[in-house]
Amino acid sequence: MAKKKTIVVTGGAGFLGSHLCDFFIADGYRVMCVDNLITGNNQNIRHLLRDKNFIFMNHNISKELRLAGSVHYIMHFASPASPVDYLNHPIPTLKVGSLGTYHTLGLAKLKKAVYLLASTSEVYGDPQVHPQKESYWGNVNPIGPRGVYDEAKRFAEAITFAYHRSHGIDTKIVRIFNTYGPRMRINDGRVVPNFIDQALKNQPLTVYGTGQQTRSFCYYSDLIDGIARLLHSKIHGPVNIGNPDEFTILQFAKMVIQFSKTKSKIVYQPLPQDDPKQRRPDISLAKKELGWEPKIKLEQGLKNTIQWFENQGKVA
Ligand code: UDP
Repeated sequence: MAKKKTIVVTGGAGFLGSHLCDFFIADGYRVMCVDNLITGNNQNIRHLLRDKNFIFMNHNISKELRLAGSVHYIMHFASPASPVDYLNHPIPTLKVGSLGTYHTLGLAKLKKAVYLLASTSEVYGDPQVHPQKESYWGNVNPIGPRGVYDEAKRFAEAITFAYHRSHGIDTKIVRIFNTYGPRMRINDGRVVPNFIDQALKNQPLTVYGTGQQTRSFCYYSDLIDGIARLLHSKIHGPVNIGNPDEFTILQFAKMVIQFSKTKSKIVYQPLPQDDPKQRRPDISLAKKELGWEPKIKLEQGLKNTIQWFENQGKVA
């Protein structure tokens, strides 16, 4: 039997990282999950701990990581990823996007591994071009509160591409647009867990601003499928992966109310600083080069997610 390939997933105990660990274990890889659990949750990987092909390392990837043996793939997903989390951890967010990317690229160079960086639609900031194509350079406030995440990810893209150019590393960069689903942290502050938590408790849903700002929500399984295709592709530059179905936050709040059958009403609260007014991925590159497009409509994904949060409440 051929020896299994080893894949390192940083942030492997987080929302997306843990789904990646599941995907690659099922796909026949040996998975090394690296996480310092500042926003990750070991409940997300508890079911994998007994698998002999799964290794968990509690390590802060902003510090160097030495590994014995072969590593074939590195996926750098470690970072606080919700606006509330990166405002609570601004310096660790900057460090994991910069030093964490530097150290994982160093490891990729040493091990001659394929490298995939988790980047973000936040590199477009508050976009003045709509929908956002990969060729758009963005509109980011570097010293605003969101800058700690946006600029760290922009630096991460820059250094990843420099390692590709200078050292010939086989790099991939995925720009992830708002993704949701089971294993989001209920208190991570993002709109999906916030609204679902509020709805399940019959509390008012907190719409920030007028609710006319837009987002385009991608179900996690579609995103994982897109990332897996990207990993095995020949593209080195950034690729948007997200669902182009765009909704206002007010529309989204009404859907949550409808699908969770809550008595909750809507209340309006101030819009956070630099909150992007609109966001929708142009996914023509992913369609053309990866043969990828999302399959799960918001209605279905949202119902699944509400159900999952409801079940969590019963277990707790
Ligand atoms: N939002 C909201 N109420 C909440 C949480 C978020 O209206 O309780 C809004 C937020 O202002 C933003 C959108 O929902 O316009 C998406 O916010 P999120 O934090 O999920 O992620 P972002 O896309 O801003 O990174």
